[in-house]
Amino acid sequence: VTRPRTDNYADELEMVVTALVAGDRASAADLIAPLAQPPRTVPVRAEASESVVALVYRRDGFRCRYCGCRVIPTQIMRLIAELFPDDFPYHRNWKAGQTHPAIASRSPSLDHIIPWARGGTNDPENLACACWICNQIKGDLTIDQLGWALRDVPTADQRDWDGLTRFYRPLWELAGRPTNADHRLWLRLLDPAPGSTKPTG
Ligand SMILES: [Zn+2]
Repeated sequence: VTRPRTDNYADELEMVVTALVAGDRASAADLIAPLAQPPRTVPVRAEASESVVALVYRRDGFRCRYCGCRVIPTQIMRLIAELFPDDFPYHRNWKAGQTHPAIASRSPSLDHIIPWARGGTNDPENLACACWICNQIKGDLTIDQLGWALRDVPTADQRDWDGLTRFYRPLWELAGRPTNADHRLWLRLLDPAPGSTKPTG
């Protein structure tokens, strides 16, 4: 994954360091002043509720709002891992060597468009479905800093992918209705046709 950057930190810091090493601390201070970002306290991150997470994934059509790739909720991939533990391993901490690469490649994550650390909120307008990889790259940077564009929320007729949610319940049944991973909650939140949900037993 390439990461375009719009900042000029490499050149700017080269000038700062050049001045410092030349013994000109005053010039270095003048050069670093425009870049100054003093340490500050970021409020403790409040987690968005699972229902907001599901709403955002559905709203965004189970595609990353940055790279456009199709994502599959991790809960569903975990059921594939239950059924094929040797071919498709899963470790709850995504331990290297014990987690299939599809998990990192295709898991959705909840992105704060304006990062939490920069004052972004959990309002759905500030939230986006992002693939885990884009979210890792984005970190606490803004899309302007990255030179990225935010894709529009798809309209109803642009939605061409359901994240395999239509198979979630039958897969869960096939896997023997595992009780881990909050499946009962996510089955309800991700059910593609809530009206047709059978009573859970
Ligand atoms: Zn992405």
